[in-house]
Amino acid sequence: MTEGHNVEKCSVCELKSQSGIHICDIYICETCEREIVNSDVSDEFYKYYLQKLRKLKHSLLNIS
Ligand SMILES: [Zn+2]
Repeated sequence: MTEGHNVEKCSVCELKSQSGIHICDIYICETCEREIVNSDVSDEFYKYYLQKLRKLKHSLLNIS
């Protein structure tokens, strides 16, 4: 089965995953979601995640 719309690219690790969550227009895979949930605010991964979101927001603004 090749139902492209079921497989989305994670905005954090950029890997395609079927099980993940949407935060607004941003898709996050199960693995990254778990990382975020398990990390506290000062964690490196959380900083990386925020950077990704910021970058993503910029690219979204540039497109629209
Ligand atoms: Zn991910």
